[in-house]
Amino acid sequence: MGAKDPAMFDCPECGVTAPAASIPYDALGYAVCPVCAHSTTPRTPAGPVESRRSTRAD
Ligand SMILES: [Zn+2]
Repeated sequence: MGAKDPAMFDCPECGVTAPAASIPYDALGYAVCPVCAHSTTPRTPAGPVESRRSTRAD
């Protein structure tokens, strides 16, 4: 273990693995799978934002 391993793209959808340097990226800078075109978005710790509906009395 000497040289730093090149970043590898691992598609969670189709399971393809390819060097991150050889795959396209979308406008947001996320890696796009060259096989299934799935864009890897970073995991959000808080999860998807749901419409918070608080009882508001106008
Ligand atoms: Zn894929």
